[in-house]
Amino acid sequence: MDSRIDVVGDVAQAVSTGALPGWDQVEELVVAAHARYADDSSGVLADYIPVLAQADPAAFGVCVVDADGREHAAGATTTRFSIQSISKAFVYALVSERLGHAHLRERIGVDNTGLAFNSVMAVELHGGHPRNPMVNAGAIATTALVEGDGPDEQWEAVVDGLSRFAGRRLEVDEVVYTSEAATNSRNKAIARLLESYGRIEADPLDVVDVYTRQCSLLVDAHDLAVMGATLADGGVNPVTGERVVSEQVATDTLAVLASTGMYERSGEWLFDVGLPAKSGVAGGIVAVSPGKGAIGTYSPLLDPAGNSVRGQRATAYLSRALGLNVFASSVHVPTRPTSPEEPA
Ligand code: GLN
Repeated sequence: MDSRIDVVGDVAQAVSTGALPGWDQVEELVVAAHARYADDSSGVLADYIPVLAQADPAAFGVCVVDADGREHAAGATTTRFSIQSISKAFVYALVSERLGHAHLRERIGVDNTGLAFNSVMAVELHGGHPRNPMVNAGAIATTALVEGDGPDEQWEAVVDGLSRFAGRRLEVDEVVYTSEAATNSRNKAIARLLESYGRIEADPLDVVDVYTRQCSLLVDAHDLAVMGATLADGGVNPVTGERVVSEQVATDTLAVLASTGMYERSGEWLFDVGLPAKSGVAGGIVAVSPGKGAIGTYSPLLDPAGNSVRGQRATAYLSRALGLNVFASSVHVPTRPTSPEEPA
């Protein structure tokens, strides 16, 4: 039985956002964020998809794209890498656009599992309900819901949708795809398990194939910043001007990222950095400041949860220096009458 109560009803969503500091200051801080961590070589390369172990450990790029589409870049912001788990955020947005808030909450869930991104136990613990769309089980169940008649059409919808977020046609890294497709028994097992619980209706192996391709799409730090800035800009890509998803979907996706985007470290991330974000095991991170813009980073050296170490540090630095933490406030200086007897 669903014990959830409806706390929102039909109350309309108003927005409360600010602006980034001036252009020169953002430019300076992006360069500073890169310089500060350029020599930091902590972390290890991913190796569970064999080809990822060949990445250049020195590669490091930081890019900010604001909600007007203006870019600030430092370091390797045009070096391409596979998007991996970051695709989960944008496929979630596309499916959310198609099926809506209530359906996704019920069917997939929006909560952290507290377990690793490829956990089978998490599925078992919740009676087959995926619960978290930003780890493999929930993401595979989400990809199964992409619009299209069969895997070819669904794949087209994924590439087309993610390309609209990026503002350019994205392509698959065939080497990464082949490497993962040859070694992804665990994801196939997760898909079969979901099928056994009635959570996937299509052929589970076809779904895993679309999912594996979506993870193999090539992006760079700049693409991630544009994709994130689209979520920061109410669903409109600020570079191309195209509406990709609705405002409601952008809001929903960021809420899901806040609770789940950094795997089992999401709570600590929110506590330290205060931004919805999503990371991928090839070393990308996108962090979004609603109404202001987004940060895309790339560095393939990862912490034990699979999050890029330099990417986290550079993003944390920029969140603080640019004033992006969504929970931060200072004492309010009144700018309007506080009572009827006290005119402005
Ligand atoms: N393609 C990877 C997988 O499905 C993505 C994992 C990740 O980025 N954490 O296992």
